[in-house]
Amino acid sequence: MTTQLTSNLLDKNEPQNSYDIARQQFTIAADHLGLDTGLRKVLMAPKRELTVNFPVRMDDGSVEVFTGYRIQHNLARGPAKGGIRYHPQVSIDEVRALAMWMTWKCATVNIPFGGAKGGVIVDPQKLSLAELEKLTRRYTTEISLLIGPETDIPAPDVNTNPQTMAWIMDTYSAHKGYSVHAVVTGKPLNIGGAEGRKEATGRGVQYVTRYAAQTQNLNLREATMVVQGFGNVGSVVSKLLCEDGVTLVAVSDANGGIYNPKGLDVRLLLDYSSKQGTLVGFPNADYVTNQELLELPCDILIPAALENQINGDNATRIRAKIISEGANGPTNPEADRVLFDRGIFVIPDILANAGGVTVSYFEWVQDLQRFFWNEEETNARLLQIMTKAFKDVYRVAQEKKLDLRTAAYILAVGRVAEATKTRGIYP
Ligand code: NAD
Repeated sequence: MTTQLTSNLLDKNEPQNSYDIARQQFTIAADHLGLDTGLRKVLMAPKRELTVNFPVRMDDGSVEVFTGYRIQHNLARGPAKGGIRYHPQVSIDEVRALAMWMTWKCATVNIPFGGAKGGVIVDPQKLSLAELEKLTRRYTTEISLLIGPETDIPAPDVNTNPQTMAWIMDTYSAHKGYSVHAVVTGKPLNIGGAEGRKEATGRGVQYVTRYAAQTQNLNLREATMVVQGFGNVGSVVSKLLCEDGVTLVAVSDANGGIYNPKGLDVRLLLDYSSKQGTLVGFPNADYVTNQELLELPCDILIPAALENQINGDNATRIRAKIISEGANGPTNPEADRVLFDRGIFVIPDILANAGGVTVSYFEWVQDLQRFFWNEEETNARLLQIMTKAFKDVYRVAQEKKLDLRTAAYILAVGRVAEATKTRGIYP
């Protein structure tokens, strides 16, 4: 069934805008599910969008005005959940896409959240720590119209971290007059963070990559991998899969990548990157650009940086057997078609990187109950959820002979659609 709502999007040539891509992915699932036009409109539209322009007094006494967003895409299955990104390329459409992907991600792993995302247009590398703290506290105040432990719970994303979450929690609590731990997740442990949250996204990618390797008869001890992005997600998954016996042959950050087909020592990489602030210049490795990196020969490719990296231009040249999407939105629909036709096994973002939001859910539950678990308990529950989600998605893909992204969307969109229908349209 193609409606007006779908055809406008599908007619376009390969979209580069993340929101167009997100809507196109939704439409593919909506067509499979046979959703009616009204439900498509409800599920496609972001529920709330807040734009804030706010001042920050810089260290030299001057005043800068920054623009930020907080967007809640869908709340049918629970409070809004999603990270906050600081990046010069943040745009309202990027935040809309990321919020929509959060809705489907929470539904894929079947945790009781809706989807949201936030972002500030800023290059945090150009700000001092004091300026970053002021920016974070003022942005928090501006978006406190929306956020709260029962309404919308932020978490870290690109260029934000546990310290950022601590400032958000402290600012929100200061306005309330008491400590509200459950307003954010990904916090430091000493203020209500959860054991294992920092590693959770990478660990989830590790779990699903292991299952993917089984389905592809790939022995991890003989496998090679390439990882784009060496931040929270990329560095953790690199370390964990190296512990499984995988050989890391190339890795990158925003400055470019390094390649050694004989293998890179992940512990030395972690040490080098924390001291130098980049991987570039790492000894005994060749420099590669981020684009060249994606096309290197390997068994497992893990994009763990930004959106729209694998597209119609380079999909035919990807040489990996498995792509595990640590990043959100790294592959566009045109590339999905090419990769599926070429038999490359893509574990979609809304499944592969859902370990982060899953342990964020655990953190939120622990904060609300004031009762904390240990890391073994967290990892065991994470494994349980990721295993079930992988098996559910894989079964749908096999039954319907589809790629895993479409299968995951069919499950996720179907769940949100059912919840919406059960609640009904008010009034
Ligand atoms: P991060 O800020 O910790 O790390 C980002 C990494 O990407 C850094 O190494 C940075 O240098 C690199 N990078 C930035 N721009 C790049 C470019 N143009 N090319 C190549 N590398 C570039 O961020 P993160 O938390 O690791 O997030 C990475 C991705 O994972 C994002 O897509 C994010 O939305 C997604 N994600 C993160 C989480 C989480 O829990 N942090 C959860 C789910 C998904």
